[in-house]
Amino acid sequence: MKKPQYHPKKNDAPKNRVSNFSDRPHGRKQEYAKVNGGVFVYSKPISVSELSKAINVPVPAIIKTLFMQGKAVTINQILDDETIGTLCLEFNYDFKKEEIVDATHFENLEIKDDPSLLEERPPVVTVMGHVDHGKTTLIDAIRSSHIAEGEAGGISQAIGAYQKEVHGKKITFIDTPGHAAFAEMRARGANVTDIVILIVAADDGVMPQTIEAIGHAKAAGAPIIVAINKIDIPGANPRKVKEELMAHDVILEEYGGDVMSCEISAKKKIGIDNLLDMVLLKAEMLELKANPNRYAMGTVLEANLDKGEGPKATLLVQNGTLQSTDYVVVGEIYGKIRRMSNEFRQVLKSAGPSTPVSVIGLSGVPSAGDRFMAFPTEKEAKDIAERRALEKKQQTQAASAAMSLSDLNNLINAGKVVDINCVVKADTDGSAQALKQSLEKLSNDKVKIKVLLAQAGAISDSDVLLASASNALIFGFNVRPDARVRQKAAEEHVEIHLHRIIYELLDEMKDAMKGMVKAELVENVTGQAEVRHLYKLSKVGTIAGSYVQSGYIKNGSKVRIMRSGVIVYEGEIGSLKRFKDDAKEVKEGYECGLTVANFNDLKEGDIIEGYEMVEKE
Ligand code: GDP
Repeated sequence: MKKPQYHPKKNDAPKNRVSNFSDRPHGRKQEYAKVNGGVFVYSKPISVSELSKAINVPVPAIIKTLFMQGKAVTINQILDDETIGTLCLEFNYDFKKEEIVDATHFENLEIKDDPSLLEERPPVVTVMGHVDHGKTTLIDAIRSSHIAEGEAGGISQAIGAYQKEVHGKKITFIDTPGHAAFAEMRARGANVTDIVILIVAADDGVMPQTIEAIGHAKAAGAPIIVAINKIDIPGANPRKVKEELMAHDVILEEYGGDVMSCEISAKKKIGIDNLLDMVLLKAEMLELKANPNRYAMGTVLEANLDKGEGPKATLLVQNGTLQSTDYVVVGEIYGKIRRMSNEFRQVLKSAGPSTPVSVIGLSGVPSAGDRFMAFPTEKEAKDIAERRALEKKQQTQAASAAMSLSDLNNLINAGKVVDINCVVKADTDGSAQALKQSLEKLSNDKVKIKVLLAQAGAISDSDVLLASASNALIFGFNVRPDARVRQKAAEEHVEIHLHRIIYELLDEMKDAMKGMVKAELVENVTGQAEVRHLYKLSKVGTIAGSYVQSGYIKNGSKVRIMRSGVIVYEGEIGSLKRFKDDAKEVKEGYECGLTVANFNDLKEGDIIEGYEMVEKE
């Protein structure tokens, strides 16, 4: 038998790879929001003022419309898609979001190569099935024979995927079993699996997670190969499994369908070779091809922060060839690969389509499911990563536009779901993703938990900024922020919760949710005052000589400043005086002098509305 070859030969590395964007617009499209035949077409998150320009509706009209709908926005606020849609319809435009396919959005790129440039690539296989049906045992059985076959001295490292050679052909296995990881990837738009091995224990039959796995495979358009496991157990009934599968539209070849199946014992290592042959046969039928003579693109399978080596990621090259000196953009970060290796820690010079590799050299820890692309120059990679980071920030801002705490009571009163945003940082990407899922599962019909970011790594300044911009809580699991980050969080009023035990973290969230649901806060308007004269004092800023029209204005009270019915600012009373004396409260029908903390842009005629949040009885 031919000995498996894990080092590509030197001349395997393509010399003239084409850049994936050599024939395409490279930068940001200048026009990303315009009206075209009555249709408002946009391609990236836009602000109120940008929308105003594009649809030719004055900013105040837009702000007012949103205000009437219970949304307070400012002129530079980025709008989410739903809000843009509502506004367009309100102002009689149809609307459409266009995906831009420039280098900044490389995941939208659909590469159409001349068929003559394509070469066969190994299939990428995932094992799925019900718990205890033998996924891990099967993966180990395939892997252990593989490790035994591996080159001497190779100490294997778990990188989340590996390649096995069968009859001189490679098969790539993703070795995180179970469909949670698979679903998570797909939810992020990453389809990495060509073939799903559906494992069903012959002594147990089709179970709930078997059915879920079938659903996932079908949704991903990945063909299934059924492996009926545990046939060594006396009383195992493969026929029953086959019939049960039929009830779920998995029709095996022997019943006239197109689904291959085989009987195995993962534990006794019976039938494994036959299963692998089937995988190769299916792969041949699928005609899986790619063009190795391109700069690589693919998906992050796993990532973590290695104490010694820094950010470390397993990348699956899906098209093109990755070289050990390439510049890559992953998610919103970029870097020059410093070392690329396989699961035997062997250094690779290049990795072609369907090859999983572990790389170090990235400037941060990406998330599983992030897409990556290699670029010829550092400038290009840096530029694109920066633009992606900017867009991500804008999108996060847009997503958080309707979630400020001051809107909370409106949302609850309107029977809307209250969102709690979270940023999760953990010591490994695996625990970050697990926490994300567990937290989001706590959502109920009143409170929806959204994890904006779940990542391996320390809690950083940018996490605090993200949390601050989106009114989110930060959860740290086995990671700690340094003093500078703590300081920043205090300034931004961002809460950081640190835990070392997952259940404690989840319990804390549950308690918070209870508190949040219990203490339904409602807004109580306490009074309104009209600004009549303005005095500017260099030391105190703008003092508004005002007349209390209704209720009372209280020192320190929360206020919003309304100008022509539009909220221009929300804040607090900084000081309140009646003649020369400090006043606690000034009642209806009286004049007062007041300042609004951190806001000097008051105008005559502004209405200052005081309010307080009270617990609903
Ligand atoms: P997973 O939850 O799907 O990953 O299942 P595991 O691989 O952990 O297997 C669950 C149990 O079934 C373990 O105790 C295995 O030893 C056992 N098992 C797996 N495959 C076989 C098999 O082919 N025959 C028998 N008798 N037991 C098996």
